[in-house]
Amino acid sequence: MIRFNQHKSKILVIFNLFLIIALWLISCHRPIQPSPRPLQKNTTSLPKDQQVRPVHVLLGQTENLFITCKKLDTLSPADFFILDDGKGALNHIPAAAQYHLCRKNNTWQLLDAKNNDLLTQYPIFQNNITFQPSPNSVIELAMLDNPADIPTAKPTGYRGTLQVKCESSDYFSVINHVDLEDYLLGVVGAEMPASWAISALEAQCIAARTYVMYHMYVDPLNQLWDVKNTQASQVYGGLPREHPRVTQAVNTTAGVVLTYGPHMAEKIFPAYFSAICGGHTQNAAPVFGQKLKPLTGKPCPYCQQNAPQNRFNWPEITLSKKELSDLILQRDSQLATLQEVVSIRVTATSDYGRVKRVELTGKNGKRLSIRGEDFRLAVTTAQKPLLSSWFTMVDTGKSWQFKQGHGWGHGVGLCQYGCRQMADNGQNCLDILSFYYPQSTLVKVF
Ligand SMILES: [Zn+2]
Repeated sequence: MIRFNQHKSKILVIFNLFLIIALWLISCHRPIQPSPRPLQKNTTSLPKDQQVRPVHVLLGQTENLFITCKKLDTLSPADFFILDDGKGALNHIPAAAQYHLCRKNNTWQLLDAKNNDLLTQYPIFQNNITFQPSPNSVIELAMLDNPADIPTAKPTGYRGTLQVKCESSDYFSVINHVDLEDYLLGVVGAEMPASWAISALEAQCIAARTYVMYHMYVDPLNQLWDVKNTQASQVYGGLPREHPRVTQAVNTTAGVVLTYGPHMAEKIFPAYFSAICGGHTQNAAPVFGQKLKPLTGKPCPYCQQNAPQNRFNWPEITLSKKELSDLILQRDSQLATLQEVVSIRVTATSDYGRVKRVELTGKNGKRLSIRGEDFRLAVTTAQKPLLSSWFTMVDTGKSWQFKQGHGWGHGVGLCQYGCRQMADNGQNCLDILSFYYPQSTLVKVF
């Protein structure tokens, strides 16, 4: 009897242990369970068939484009095609080391980059030219102001096709048309180290997908492209930034976006994110103009635990008044009308100290009020980086001191280092996203 009871209690202990481990695994790896349905057409303008079109990413503007098509597996040169939209022609271009596209005598000219032999040319009207790689290959490119720099250039590979479009007599725009999920491979890998916890990568992926779809379907930034490949939108590094862990995060969150609003009438929103909020995220309104509940600032206790200390609290910066005035005037033509900045006054700050508005007075008496974030971006330099608009300005007579600086970036929405800490604490991407985008819900749109 005693032996039986001992045996029974052993089984019970093992069973309980098994149950605890199973519950722990379930709690750590809760699958994403967004409602599997499309967004309402009137809220996102998604196409009726729910087929998401490719993202159009502006890679840059240049006078000289060097391109090579390479096979994805062997990296050996591959064939590609040129679609001349003006004529509808399709030209087969044989595999070679490198080609050079430039404009000359009102034509597009494609040259062999090695010997400058003219391969083909097209008249320039309003038309675009599209480069289409052969199957299972990608286009590598380098954009150079000076063609002589090509030996030292490091070309970057991009999935999808490449469109070039005349912008002026001097340069043309280079636009990558890439499938949304392929685009995210190059964004998540560029915006966040692939070594971070998978739930952090998943949260970043959903935020990035939401951000780009907002600009594709709700608020286009430009007729020719949806987003830039820089921090002005979100960083997109193409093939070199892809990583198997990023691919995993993209695949497990496929088609999932952040939304807000009543059930069955949810709206997509620009899911902004930045590196380090500095302890409090920022309302979107003073930075981007939107007053949305998911983009409401809130205390963040997480980034302080793992962010680099000189980024979470950045060191004091001093700029002479002349230096500061010159930087402001260089920012844009409207600010240049101040001629010289003789007075700077912070006119609005958030409850916790971020500068929301700054009034600038010129030596001609003209006054301009600008957003705190624009002021920061105007005066920040590589040598003296003003990492955020969360600072105190002190007038010392000949110079301005920027003290008590906190955080890195605009601070709206997801805080990337905070997201990393939450993931390290064992929280999943649903926990992270609902913390940084309050009252948001996840919806699977494709
Ligand atoms: Zn934070």
